[in-house]
Amino acid sequence: MPFKSRQPDIELPRNISIWDWLFDSPSSVLNKYSGSALGGYCNALTGERLDYAAVKEVTSYLSTALVKNYGLREGGTVALFSPNNIWYPVAMLGTLRAGGIVSGASPAYNVEEMTYALQKAGAKYLMTVPTSMGIAAAAAKNAGIPKERVFLLEGELDGFTTMKQLLDIGKSYRDVGQVPSFKIPKGKKNKDMCAFLSFSSGTTGLPKAVMISHQNVIAQVLQVQLITPPDLRKILAVLPVFHITGLVHALHLPVTINADVYMLPAFTMKDLLDTVVKYQLKELLIVPPILIRLVRDPLVDKYDLSCLRRFSTGAAPISEEILHLLEKKFPQTKFKQAYGMTESCSCITASPPDKYDYKYGHTVGTICASTEIKVIDLDGKELGLNEPGEILTRGPQITMGYLNNPKATADTFDRDGWLHTGDQGFIDEEGMLTITDRIKEMIKVKGIGVAPAELEDLLLGHPKVEDVAVMGVKDDYSGELPKAYVVLKGGEKGSRQIEEELKQYVKERKVRHKHIDGGIEFVSEIPKSASGKILRRVLRDQSNKTDKDT
Ligand code: AMP
Repeated sequence: MPFKSRQPDIELPRNISIWDWLFDSPSSVLNKYSGSALGGYCNALTGERLDYAAVKEVTSYLSTALVKNYGLREGGTVALFSPNNIWYPVAMLGTLRAGGIVSGASPAYNVEEMTYALQKAGAKYLMTVPTSMGIAAAAAKNAGIPKERVFLLEGELDGFTTMKQLLDIGKSYRDVGQVPSFKIPKGKKNKDMCAFLSFSSGTTGLPKAVMISHQNVIAQVLQVQLITPPDLRKILAVLPVFHITGLVHALHLPVTINADVYMLPAFTMKDLLDTVVKYQLKELLIVPPILIRLVRDPLVDKYDLSCLRRFSTGAAPISEEILHLLEKKFPQTKFKQAYGMTESCSCITASPPDKYDYKYGHTVGTICASTEIKVIDLDGKELGLNEPGEILTRGPQITMGYLNNPKATADTFDRDGWLHTGDQGFIDEEGMLTITDRIKEMIKVKGIGVAPAELEDLLLGHPKVEDVAVMGVKDDYSGELPKAYVVLKGGEKGSRQIEEELKQYVKERKVRHKHIDGGIEFVSEIPKSASGKILRRVLRDQSNKTDKDT
């Protein structure tokens, strides 16, 4: 029997779009709060703020401008290429209001990576910031997006339409009529209507565009609401909002609980600490490397952080040692953890309020409402309590599948709709999930997913490389780092110099977290199955053995 959530089922509103649900439904915060009591998106550094009534208004203008003057159609994709800022949710919600699809991309991408993201998502529009325009404009050109459809979210640059201009265009239609907000078409359900395309490599292969529906987001927000403490009135957005966790927890959830969101464009320890003190934050949603900095960085000792009550983490495992140090350094705090993936629109499990405790820190919480988990062994046999195996899940927050990739979708879901997570773990008597291993290819660097296939494809293009496999190796700070096992052409032996040459080759072509910082090992062959698939386990075992022998 599958493991079921112990929480009451969520009640999904019928067939409504995200924008209507947030701003134009009986449950909207705009029906309960107004004026200074309304929460909003706030730039943590400058204090610039848009409350949710203003967000409703400007997103109406934006969607009107995009539809009337730029021809955005239902199902048209708008790519957002920007660090966190308060105009990001405006661009996102304006697109959704028009029935468009939003595709977020890492602001650290280079031209090649951004071109790939635009092409895979089939983006027809791009919104960015002045500092990223060089890359954005080049990638847009490669992907066939005309310059007139490349906009600035904030700031100004000659030759590009700004957010302010778009809002003015939308406003000019005020008297003749704004475009109505997008409605789920007759005969369709909100679970069939894609709202977001987020990238993940899934269990194998290159990054793929994960289709997140209107229902997925609404369901996940309702699931998280059930376990959100009532004192969470201020939410920090330091994790990038292009990633599914930031997208749900820092851009959607806050609107529904009338919380303020404090947005930081990038992580620096100083900005984070200043923000905590300035706004007296109680809870921090951060990834393990930032928790490590909190216990190790001497700068932290210069701040009075007694306002903090909880740390909330996920995306990658956290060590017992760090948990212990964290509890010692911040004795007034509690600890909670969630587990999920892009394909599950963030959480599959999360700590419920009665389990916010460091003693449960090695677990990733209990099953979210209306969600099931099945744990299976290698032969597909269902396992029981405390028996580790692959985690499968089903629930209203689980993706519709991968865009234009029915094979990857079919490989990831079984016949009964169970999503294979590619993670291994077990459920205990208290209903808590513990993750024991990751059996899929994905490498997680500082909580960010890296697809080995992407780095393997790149390295295979180097003139000296005959064959290659990339895998994650453990790292105290980053969690994991990519390491390459390389066979050189002509039986050449490896050297320090070639190692540096290959590392540099990747550095010049890929964003920071994809660099081969786990090192390069030269090997005589890459173990492969009869069908040519890299036998990663064999390689890992061989490498561990070599490490022990030397
Ligand atoms: P992403 O799609 O980038 O969010 O990555 C999802 C993957 O991150 C999962 O399949 C897990 O392998 C890993 N992950 C997420 N949360 C946790 C956690 N709390 N502990 C360990 N691994 C996690």
